[in-house]
Amino acid sequence: MDNPYPEHAAWIELSAKAFKNNVNIYRNVLGSGTLLGSVLKGNAYGHGFQESLSILHPLVDLIFVISPIDAYKIRKYEALNSMAQKRVVVLGPISAHEALLCAQQEIEVTIADASWESLILETQAWAAERSSEFKKLKGHIHVDTGLGREGFTLDGLDKKVEFLKKLSPWLHVQGVMTHFSNVEDVTTQDYALGQVDGLNAAHNLISKTLNVPYKLEKHAAQSAASLILNSSHADLVRAGIGLYGLWPSRETKLSAVVVLQHTPKLQPALSWKCRSQSIKWVPAGSYIGYGCSFRAERSLRIGLFPVGYFDGYPRLMSGNAHVLVNGHRCKILGRVMMNHIIVDLTDATSDESPVVATLLGRDGGENISAELLAEWAQTINYEIVARIGAHLKRLVVDS
Ligand SMILES: *Cc1c(COP(=O)(O)O)cnc(C)c1O
Repeated sequence: MDNPYPEHAAWIELSAKAFKNNVNIYRNVLGSGTLLGSVLKGNAYGHGFQESLSILHPLVDLIFVISPIDAYKIRKYEALNSMAQKRVVVLGPISAHEALLCAQQEIEVTIADASWESLILETQAWAAERSSEFKKLKGHIHVDTGLGREGFTLDGLDKKVEFLKKLSPWLHVQGVMTHFSNVEDVTTQDYALGQVDGLNAAHNLISKTLNVPYKLEKHAAQSAASLILNSSHADLVRAGIGLYGLWPSRETKLSAVVVLQHTPKLQPALSWKCRSQSIKWVPAGSYIGYGCSFRAERSLRIGLFPVGYFDGYPRLMSGNAHVLVNGHRCKILGRVMMNHIIVDLTDATSDESPVVATLLGRDGGENISAELLAEWAQTINYEIVARIGAHLKRLVVDS
């Protein structure tokens, strides 16, 4: 069989050990009363959906995705590997047809606005027409306690959720959730505590209004709140970035020392590497890259690497960035191109044989973090990893 993956391309290495370490950190902070959910949206924060799923599935209690398509992939993965089903929750919007598939596959959904009334009735009609069984769909009511994104706002909330009573033959309300706005941006959590109060009030009100004979679940915490805001833990958390080993922000890391009395050692699970395409000497005075933006002051050994902004390596980093080769920091010369970067290898190698550059991750004593790339590209670590091209090969390198 031919290898369908090109030999000359950048790739991603994932450390299963790092994922396990991060899961343990979250489990220790949460204790046994709170379920650990992992968020696999955005191609698992760029880490690769299938690869991250294979590592995280056995380690966590439930899995959150944005798209129902990802949820079906989880069910398929479980069936193929004869694994027990984990709870799966779709956070994003779905269609009536998708609602039917979710119900059939026991995938939970998020009820974020009044459009769900017609959606469920349409789903029900659809199922009846095809005489397919419409199992009860489990849904979490999303309340907007201050993010101003999806969810029911708190004013007149009891009236807004009344319609769910009518839908009870088809819709099982599983819980009430909210999402924080600025836990990561601050070191005092007044705003978030207000959101927790809002969620508690919403949970009470919805419990009373729907008057179901079981306890509704309650959840709010993402990675940051899971670590630094105990009062947000409730029944379960939805941790994204932290399980991949990245800190949600510097403020969160600082707050963790205060709240936990130590800084948990999150380990980044992802490294990004690329093998050189060619290495050559250029004489002093040569220009390198588009726009003649770099001129060699002396003769240089330069390496061409087949990775660029198409792969998610931001062009905005041109002029700032370095990569690691043989444990040396090597400057990127000139501009980041669509499919190429050019790197100064003069001090990093002694000949022109191929080398591997680390764009993100460790090499020897040096480390390039997602935070450093984010600084160079004027963004946050979330965007750096989430934008790494889905076409790049992901390899799990340890277990
Ligand atoms: C993205 C997201 C999370 C996870 O956020 P992290 O900061 O990555 O932990 C949790 N809940 C919802 C609704 C989200 O959209």
